[in-house]
Amino acid sequence: FSSVELTQEYLNRISSIDPTLNSFITVTDELALKQAHAADEAIAGGNTSPLTGIPVAHKDLFCTEGVLTTCASKMLHNFIPPYESTVTGRVKMAGAVTLGKTNMDEFAMGSSNENSHFGAVKNPWNLDTVPGGSSGGSAAAIAAGLCVAATGTDTGGSIRQPASFCGITGLKPTYGRVSRFGMIAYASSLDQAGPMARSAEDCAYLLQSFAGFDSSDSTSAETSTQDYLESIEAPLTGLRIGLPKEYFGEGLDSNVAQIVMNAIKEFEKLGATVKEISLPNLNLSIPSYYVIAPSEASSNLSRFDGVRYGHRCSDPQDLLDMYMRTRAEGFGKEVQKRIMVGTYALSEGYYDAYYVKAQRIRRLIKEDFVRAYQDVDVIMGPVAPTTAFGLGEKTSDPVAMYLEDIYTLSVNLAGIPAMSVPAGFSNGMPVGLQIMGNYFDEAKLLNVAHKYQ
Ligand code: GLN
Repeated sequence: FSSVELTQEYLNRISSIDPTLNSFITVTDELALKQAHAADEAIAGGNTSPLTGIPVAHKDLFCTEGVLTTCASKMLHNFIPPYESTVTGRVKMAGAVTLGKTNMDEFAMGSSNENSHFGAVKNPWNLDTVPGGSSGGSAAAIAAGLCVAATGTDTGGSIRQPASFCGITGLKPTYGRVSRFGMIAYASSLDQAGPMARSAEDCAYLLQSFAGFDSSDSTSAETSTQDYLESIEAPLTGLRIGLPKEYFGEGLDSNVAQIVMNAIKEFEKLGATVKEISLPNLNLSIPSYYVIAPSEASSNLSRFDGVRYGHRCSDPQDLLDMYMRTRAEGFGKEVQKRIMVGTYALSEGYYDAYYVKAQRIRRLIKEDFVRAYQDVDVIMGPVAPTTAFGLGEKTSDPVAMYLEDIYTLSVNLAGIPAMSVPAGFSNGMPVGLQIMGNYFDEAKLLNVAHKYQ
């Protein structure tokens, strides 16, 4: 079949299934079919890459030239970027077809996709549960077969946790591996884009297309990229796996723990050795992250003032009135809360007590990982303490919601790469295994995940 037929089939599935799931904010039918035609011509001309004609979707946080980009916020409900993010531009260059832009938590703040101006996303495995967040739209769309693969972003778990909840595979690369140019910033020192798909192999193809240095992002790493497909079949004999004892403590659902332990036994059968390790500062990751991320967000989000982009309040009396009403109307509750927390933490007199202290803890967390990787190649544990929880179950209890992130945040604070890989089901709901790797060793992660799958 042709790319046009394949694309049409996916568009049909989206129009019949997505009214229930709400995983897309924008479907780009016309653009997709145009790209599919171009892909068919490229195939006919023998001019292809592995992504030619493959239908993908992008989290609505990546700027896409000429295509509505909302970040799931009322603030950007009418924003059509005049330029393309590096990630989406490279995926396009590789010949993939863009089906549309996926739903998410507003400005990527959340763990359940319930903070979207465009409504919550539902988990395809059970429509009464959340898909996870913030890249919940991408995860749900892949799980429901509405696209082959998708992009996501992960500041504190937003690729891995929805991947775990929806039973798909997702990878958060090393900080700096992927360009942040054209990504709407949440917390710039933590944000990283990555691939989401059904398998590690598909993630490898997608990552291959967009990883690598970009002079438009000053934090983009000049370290050369690996070939993510070349070593994907390598045997796991002698692989040293570390199991951090702190990842199996209080708060972890016993079924989830069992499924993760069973997965680890499979790796032993594949020739790996397992040893217990310690990441002693795990429990400090939540307080540290929830100071650093809102602090950076409060600064990043100051650009949304009604002057330059998106929403502007009606009939402003003067400049201050415009700023204040535009921001009060344009930002949702969770975003406003984080701006206030961040502004407070950065304010004179509190900066040392909160922000500087959080940065010190961040250093300790990073050192924990650096020490651990002297003895092991990868670290494994759960992605989240539970499976997907009920819609509305945690919305009134922010602390319970933030606790969801306990096993994912420290990866971003340290800047290491990590994946979520489907490991089994608990009461019919998917459970992900988290595999954490050493800096810039995405190839090893993909190899380890692929051999398990
Ligand atoms: N749940 C975390 C937060 O709300 C992480 C979100 C993310 O990775 N974008 O900040």
